[in-house]
Amino acid sequence: MNIFEGKVLIDGNWQDPQSGETLPVMDPSDGSEFGRIASGSAIDIDRAVQSAQTAMEGEWGKTIPVERGRLLHKLSTLILEHEDELTEMEARDVGKPLTQARVDVRACARYFEFYGGAADKVHGETIPYLEGYTVLTLREPHGVTGHIIPWNYPLQIIGRTIGGALTMGNSCVLKPGEEASQTALMVGELARQAGFPPGVFNIVPGLGEEAGNALIHHSGVNHLSFTGSTEVGALVQQAAAKNAVPVTLELGGKSPQVVFADADLEKALPFLVNASIQNCGQTCSAASRVIVESSIYEKLMNRLAERFKELRVGPAFRDLNCGPLISPEQKKRVENYLNQAKADGLNISAEGKIVEDAPAEGNYVKPLLIRDVPPEHAVAQEELFGPVLAAMQFSSEEEAVKLANGTPFGLVSGIWTNDGARQFRVAKRIKSGQVFINNYGAGGGVELPFGGVKLSGHGREKGFEALYGFSVTKTIAIQHGV
Ligand code: NAD
Repeated sequence: MNIFEGKVLIDGNWQDPQSGETLPVMDPSDGSEFGRIASGSAIDIDRAVQSAQTAMEGEWGKTIPVERGRLLHKLSTLILEHEDELTEMEARDVGKPLTQARVDVRACARYFEFYGGAADKVHGETIPYLEGYTVLTLREPHGVTGHIIPWNYPLQIIGRTIGGALTMGNSCVLKPGEEASQTALMVGELARQAGFPPGVFNIVPGLGEEAGNALIHHSGVNHLSFTGSTEVGALVQQAAAKNAVPVTLELGGKSPQVVFADADLEKALPFLVNASIQNCGQTCSAASRVIVESSIYEKLMNRLAERFKELRVGPAFRDLNCGPLISPEQKKRVENYLNQAKADGLNISAEGKIVEDAPAEGNYVKPLLIRDVPPEHAVAQEELFGPVLAAMQFSSEEEAVKLANGTPFGLVSGIWTNDGARQFRVAKRIKSGQVFINNYGAGGGVELPFGGVKLSGHGREKGFEALYGFSVTKTIAIQHGV
């Protein structure tokens, strides 16, 4: 049994949740229960926030940036030393093929490495002002930061959100996604071993409506970072408004890749497929729409169909193209969309295969390529969170931009063209937080600011820019005379 089985991490100690209640940990590959996590309540959240406040007033509040950086580096090293264990747990808990899970472990370590290096490089300014004055700004921590994350990329999101907050000297309370909390707890244990003082990094697993709700409403929290659905994001923003605290919302997407006739299709093909099926489509930045210039539409549809037919789905440890979806509920949700698509006569042009020995209790669905999708159809408008690529065509650059911008989301987009002027023109007109030209995702990009516009949220995590969000400017004006 893990030392954190059924526990919360508060004040540097693994403890029982106040209620003593736990939740099951399910393996989405075969539907079996393989552990229990604590079901944290408002009382646990309150204790965690108080512990974080005490940490700010104590040793942690006085820790100089270079020392914070060293602790972050140490955590990064420990994560890499436990790469195999973390990979296996992420694969089992999320249902992620092993290769993808390993990428996430390395990304998590890289975030702590990147932010460890940045800790002593964020500084304020001096501002020319009235005669006899010197004015300077300091970048100070908010204090206690609350972090709510989903189940789909626990390690990567912990790296970016906890990494950024600790770098700036905040102390954190994390509520991981109830469907997959295991690796969050493992990183919490590694942070303890790295030597972060008690109360700097607290973790309260549990249900969103209970532990999450208590965290977003707690008046002792000075900043909220939420990654999850647009619906819950709206609740978080309302709660933040009541306490007048800043909030970062990393929400959903319906990201497009636009393919012009002059694109290098051989180069584009693997990106078009992988960006739609990675983590079985359960990725906020999944490119679930492909918008193709009419003159190459048939050719590209045929090539994509060949690739989709080759895709294989099965248990995470088989390390195929896709694992299972996270839960039976998520499977039902995706199937409902597909049944609707079929009832509406949509053209399912290719599907992958579930391997024969995949356990019947696993949450498997086949990857699908659906072509000629009307832009207003739910499959082209809503976040399915399944391995489904919706294709449509355009005949002018104007129409391509209109289709790309034609959903309520704006997280990421891809443009495939070798026309340099068009690359910039279209990139500037597309409404999304990131635009990738002749690639998609840039290999993860720990260094690259990430976040949405429109219903995909606001604020930025990742990269150096996130550090401004995890700190607040204090202006000091000194009148010293001339
Ligand atoms: P979700 O919104 O249901 O849950 C996210 C987190 O919020 C979980 O920890 C959950 O317990 C908590 N929560 C639920 N109800 C709450 C409440 N009332 N108060 C406080 N917390 C509450 O989302 P999900 O299904 O876990 O994750 C999928 C969503 O996350 C998708 O929409 C996806 O696009 C989005 N996502 C966004 C990013 C990004 O960086 N933009 C990254 C990953 C996932």
